[in-house]
Amino acid sequence: MRKELIIIGAGPGGYVAAIRAAQLGAKVTVIEGRDIGGTCLNRGCISTKAMYTNAKKISDLKKMHEFGVELEGYRINFEKIQSRKKAVVDQLVGGIEKLLKAYQVEVIHGWATFAGENTLEVSTKEGETLVLEGEKILIASGSKPSILPIEGTDLPGVITSDELLDIDHIPKKLAVAGSGVIGIELAAIFNAFGSEVTVVSSTLLKRMDGEMIKRVQPYLKKQGLNLKQDCRVTGITHTGEGLQIDIRNKKNGKEDKIEADTLLMAPGRDPMLNQLNLEKAGVQYDEAGIKVNEDLQTSNENIFAIGDVLGGMMLAHVASHQGIAAVERMLGHESGIRLDVVPDCVFMDPQLAGVGMTEEQVKEKEIDYLTGKFMFGANGKALGMGEPEGFVKVIARKDNHQLLGMHVMGAHASDLIHEGALALSHDMTLEDITKTIHAHPTLAETVMEAALAATDEAIHMA
Ligand code: FAD
Repeated sequence: MRKELIIIGAGPGGYVAAIRAAQLGAKVTVIEGRDIGGTCLNRGCISTKAMYTNAKKISDLKKMHEFGVELEGYRINFEKIQSRKKAVVDQLVGGIEKLLKAYQVEVIHGWATFAGENTLEVSTKEGETLVLEGEKILIASGSKPSILPIEGTDLPGVITSDELLDIDHIPKKLAVAGSGVIGIELAAIFNAFGSEVTVVSSTLLKRMDGEMIKRVQPYLKKQGLNLKQDCRVTGITHTGEGLQIDIRNKKNGKEDKIEADTLLMAPGRDPMLNQLNLEKAGVQYDEAGIKVNEDLQTSNENIFAIGDVLGGMMLAHVASHQGIAAVERMLGHESGIRLDVVPDCVFMDPQLAGVGMTEEQVKEKEIDYLTGKFMFGANGKALGMGEPEGFVKVIARKDNHQLLGMHVMGAHASDLIHEGALALSHDMTLEDITKTIHAHPTLAETVMEAALAATDEAIHMA
């Protein structure tokens, strides 16, 4: 069967690309081996953020007395937490299925393997093998959890984010191997649910601005998260009672042990390459991911690739925007999307978000720069909300005040960061932000004040 455009994978990369291609008039076929919505909806962003909301509500409950509401305690119904999460995921997956139908995108449920330069074999859910030829093919096959190359990862109780998000009980003692976004978000969520959590951290949230990471650590400690910094997991054994996790400090070589009933493996994610048989299509790749040029085109001119399968920044919004840009280019259109400005958020309490360069990166590039900072504690809205923790930091060129980066810790950081993203993707200056009226009383005023602070002109901070 000959098809105009075949997309492998219906995650936020593949399904968004399919809709955009259909809008541009293409006849699109999507092949999905598992679930529509991919990792993001079923085992990633949406599942964690549904659970993050439970965690946030618990932390808000603990502060209710500050608002004059005296509560007698609370009980967690974990079954209800899981069923609520499932309802959110199901609603979104159902919505995407309807959208794909409305755009007349053909969806084939099955696993795709290359059988030639433009030929795919698909083993369908119904047990058939289909042979499809694609004029153009987009690979959006995503990623899977990485497992540390050490002894004991197959022991009972050693799980990945896929299993933890679907677990039927709250672990008593949860150890987390990895302190990237996935490890930290899940650690903070289960800590709020009552697990005793220890995070084995080689480098805490290494993509974020260093000052922000320093400032957030006391909050993590206050919430009861035990951080084993500069450490790696070196081995896992089962004692009969539970897991024993050996760790080593990479700076001083000191060894230690942690006991836990559950160990979350969260050292990162690997691109989903294994069953694609890319050699048959002449698509170059290595273990980090598929190789593409600036247009997201692979070494086979009719095959493009996007999202987590490329390695790099594994984020849903990166996958989606690459998906739009790729099909626009594949179908002969110009694409004006800026793929180099990527907001990055961590959903915990307080939230973290960053876009553009960190202060460390600016220093490394030897750029002359200014920073401006404004604390949430001096913002009326944050105080009124009872969330005075946090700050906004802007980094700009010293000569022409062009914004280089923005970093936010605090309530709604994941929403506030988009003022920085918009400014960066239009090469704006500090003055473009400060000359724009920001409504009062809002958290967004902290962004304006931070931009003013870069030239010592903040109004509400001396
Ligand atoms: P995926 O979403 O992985 O989708 C790929 C799809 O392709 C899958 O459904 C898979 O079944 C299918 N597939 C693979 N191979 C084949 C094949 N051979 N044939 C047919 N189908 C195939 N990102 C954010 O931006 N924000 C967040 O808050 C966030 N939170 C996360 C939390 C967790 C716990 C995890 C694990 C990830 C999180 N991410 C988050 C990352 C985000 O989920 C991914 O970056 C995103 O899903 C990547 O999209 P994708 O389309 O490239 O791949």
